[in-house]
Amino acid sequence: MNKGKKIYEGKAKIIYATNDKQLVIQHFKDDATAFNNLKKAKIEGKGVLNNRISEHLLLSLSQCGIKTHLIKRLNMREQLIKKAEIIPVEIIVRNLATGSLTKRLGITEGTILSKPLIEYCYKSDDLGDPLVSIDHIFEFNWADRKEIETINELSLRINDILTGMFKAINIKLVDFKLEFGRAWNKDKDKNEIILADEISPDTCRLWDAKTEKKLDKDRFRKDLGNIIQSYQEVARRLGIMPEETNIKEVNFGKPTSVKFKKK
Ligand code: 5GP
Repeated sequence: MNKGKKIYEGKAKIIYATNDKQLVIQHFKDDATAFNNLKKAKIEGKGVLNNRISEHLLLSLSQCGIKTHLIKRLNMREQLIKKAEIIPVEIIVRNLATGSLTKRLGITEGTILSKPLIEYCYKSDDLGDPLVSIDHIFEFNWADRKEIETINELSLRINDILTGMFKAINIKLVDFKLEFGRAWNKDKDKNEIILADEISPDTCRLWDAKTEKKLDKDRFRKDLGNIIQSYQEVARRLGIMPEETNIKEVNFGKPTSVKFKKK
């Protein structure tokens, strides 16, 4: 597989063309941004961890029958993925109230929602990813009714699967963001909806089940420190930190380096 030219660069990832029209390479950067790009930093090792964590989570989802863009991880920072036409709507799934939900509606922080809550945001950096209604999605042709039905169903299934996976390692899946795309299915000879982008501590809120310690990007957003150690802790609990990693136990006070064995 030959890596071609850069076709898109986002805040945390770069997409490269390949010699196969249906496939592209997704590269995970160390860059972190928050508050609509107002806060920026480079967090050494973040891209490597997100590549590995997202690979693990997407593979687990595909084993449960969820179609994703992931073909395989290529190296420490790159994945080969199916090219998809990204639907410009971010899907937020919430199990507990925090973040923008509490700010927007004055809901008490940490309120357990009676059932998972789905929200839609229009994907636009210029506008700060504003919350939109289903009718906005149809009116502006971002997705049709059938696609949204599929996306809702998949999002709730993904929430069920991931909530269980994280519960087993004493982590609460508080909320997360998903992106979906349309990709060509040559067997069916038509486009289908697949899960795209990434699922990682950059895109989820993950709290330690006992202490409610944040193990996700909120450590960066809220200047809580030990960002990389928290991402490593998630990787370690998921069982994807190889033995040769020089981290025996993550100590939240001590900086540690990230070393991954190549598959
Ligand atoms: P909130 O709306 O509370 O800020 O975010 C809800 C959830 O979606 C959080 O887990 C957050 O990390 C994720 N999320 C929402 N928008 C974005 C985004 O533009 N980028 C990333 N990485 N995550 C997002």
